[in-house]
Amino acid sequence: MNLEKSKQIYEEGIKYIPGGVNSPVRAFKSVNSSPVFISKGYKSKIQDEDGNAYIDYIGSWGPAILGHSNEELMEGIEDIIRDGLSFGLPTKIEVDMAKLMVESYPAIDMVRMVNSGTEATMSAIRVARGYTNKNKIIKFEGCYHGHSDSLLVKSGSGTITYGVPTSLGVPEEIVRNTLVCRYNDLHDIKKTFEEHGSDIAAIIVEPVAGNMGLVAATPEFLKELREITKEYNSVLIFDEVITGFRIAYGGASEVYAIEPDMACFGKIIGGGFPVGAYGGKKEIMEMVSPLGGVYQAGTLSGNPLAMHIGYKNIKLLQRDKSIYDYMEKMAIKLEKGISENIEKLGINATIVRFKNMLTLFFGKGPFNNYDDVQKCDTELYAKYFREMLNRGIMLPPAQFECMFLSAEHTEEDLEYTIKSNYESLKAIK
Ligand SMILES: *Cc1c(COP(=O)(O)O)cnc(C)c1O
Repeated sequence: MNLEKSKQIYEEGIKYIPGGVNSPVRAFKSVNSSPVFISKGYKSKIQDEDGNAYIDYIGSWGPAILGHSNEELMEGIEDIIRDGLSFGLPTKIEVDMAKLMVESYPAIDMVRMVNSGTEATMSAIRVARGYTNKNKIIKFEGCYHGHSDSLLVKSGSGTITYGVPTSLGVPEEIVRNTLVCRYNDLHDIKKTFEEHGSDIAAIIVEPVAGNMGLVAATPEFLKELREITKEYNSVLIFDEVITGFRIAYGGASEVYAIEPDMACFGKIIGGGFPVGAYGGKKEIMEMVSPLGGVYQAGTLSGNPLAMHIGYKNIKLLQRDKSIYDYMEKMAIKLEKGISENIEKLGINATIVRFKNMLTLFFGKGPFNNYDDVQKCDTELYAKYFREMLNRGIMLPPAQFECMFLSAEHTEEDLEYTIKSNYESLKAIK
């Protein structure tokens, strides 16, 4: 595969952008490669600067759920642009969008738009703290909630529940209020509440974790989180930045039939534009400025163009919910095919699926938490990734990420992917 142009752009890029990319995963460092620069996308495929085409399983990490350059989504976009891009004053589409989100996600009564998932989780935590007048929050090892200071935390060694920063530049004083627990571990969460319960403002959780590879919460675990937060008057925040409008129209809240007090969104709700949102119960959201004392603002929040596209993206999903059945059917087919290949070749790997998300772990399951996935062979994943790339398949460029299906992936795409998976696994064996 010729990647000359991508290499040239990369060489130029590293002079002006740290690592040549605007988000670290794009650097392909985890797969010992240099980045592929994309020029365009159509339906389930993307094309790079050298003209190579790929079946895309990244889908912009979720937003491209209706495929790339969806014609219905794009229709009329020029008219919207012609009317002006941003005013810094309210527009009707913002109200339409908020209403649609509240109707789509019964747990929330009100919603505030922001510009990224990071902003959504950061703001939700501030609101939860303001509402409860408590300081500590609980997050789970392996869950990712964007890059705000208090959430860039992993568990400390031994029995210390206090987290330690996962990034330079994050003061220890800040993460001291973030407690880190084990995902899917009921005992750990109970113990932490026994010790710190009176000062825990919120639990934030990915109800289906997509940022340590795919690890779904057990129903018992989410149920326990719901009950214990009620008992201690803490706020339960579902980070549905990936799962919202993805694993079902109503996200993980619908799938697990659990209503959090607050929820965060991003990715899909912008349809490809930089959009995030956080919402919650009325009395919680009334804490937000200008109604309440929790400050949060944004010059481009609710940007009209982003709102129009985001609104339409959600409307298209709402119009035809069979899209979810289709994507799951496709994901099951992929899971089955890959699973058979693993068996035939006797590879030490496990394909994990939840609804329309998948991860091929290079290790033996079960995968219930961060410790479990850490046992995977990331070097082998890197080799596998490159084999697949050479066959025209774009997988997430890191072991601990998910593959995303779209409504535009075809039977033919999947058959080719399964065949390539066989050849690639055989090549790295
Ligand atoms: C991507 C992601 C975020 C951060 O969203 P950005 O738009 O990248 O800031 C937060 N939470 C989860 C679960 C995510 O997957």
